[in-house]
Amino acid sequence: MCDVNAPRASGSAALRAVVHGRVQGVGFRDATVARARERGVSGWVRNGDDGTVQLHAEGPPAALDDLVAFLHDGPPGARVDSVDVEAARVEGHEQFAVRGVSAGVFVVQEHQATAHHYDLRLEVDGVMRSWAVPKGPSLDPGVKRLAVQVGDHEKGHNTFEGTLGDGGVIVWDRGTYEQGGRVPWPEALDRGHAVFALHGEKLRGGFALQRTGDGPKPQWLLIKRRDAEARPGSDIVAQRPESVVSGQTLDELIG
Ligand code: MN
Repeated sequence: MCDVNAPRASGSAALRAVVHGRVQGVGFRDATVARARERGVSGWVRNGDDGTVQLHAEGPPAALDDLVAFLHDGPPGARVDSVDVEAARVEGHEQFAVRGVSAGVFVVQEHQATAHHYDLRLEVDGVMRSWAVPKGPSLDPGVKRLAVQVGDHEKGHNTFEGTLGDGGVIVWDRGTYEQGGRVPWPEALDRGHAVFALHGEKLRGGFALQRTGDGPKPQWLLIKRRDAEARPGSDIVAQRPESVVSGQTLDELIG
């Protein structure tokens, strides 16, 4: 179902490239996306922290050659000093997209209701898609956390912190996030496999949501991806129980 190594079409090749020079702030990423889509190349492009433009491209070899030739020139205003190209594995991307650009905000609210849980909310097309995670998120890639999809929430609820009935809510973490994966959003969510990167105070790096059951409240698994932000063996909800807004814990709030 999710064989990340399966090429979508035979005859596809893949490459990774790093473009050096004056290549940021000159429309390089958008021009690369336009050229790649025109030639039927899929993958992604992003700005590197070191001033480079980096990309993963896959498609017919002739189309990749054309894209690499384009990278050597760049769009008007760019000054390309060099392009490093190396062969890569075909990953089966279905789009060519810009990475490293925020798709919106995310929030995790710890909620004591009838049952204690954490509400993970991701902004998608202006609303907050929401999952109730009984045990909360983890930075340990070996841990799979049940996440029950619940109704969308308004963005205005993201900042709510306070008592609610006999229980209460704290803003446990928040920040921005990037949509990732081989399939564009929101289709990735519709298909039940969504990859994203969180830029929060506690939660950082890549995560995946994988749907495992349908119904009125579909069940998903929330899994930390193995990257530089992964913390094997850690228990972030125990280590960092405090609100990122007030500093108080949910127990202190409810009293
Ligand atoms: Mn809730």
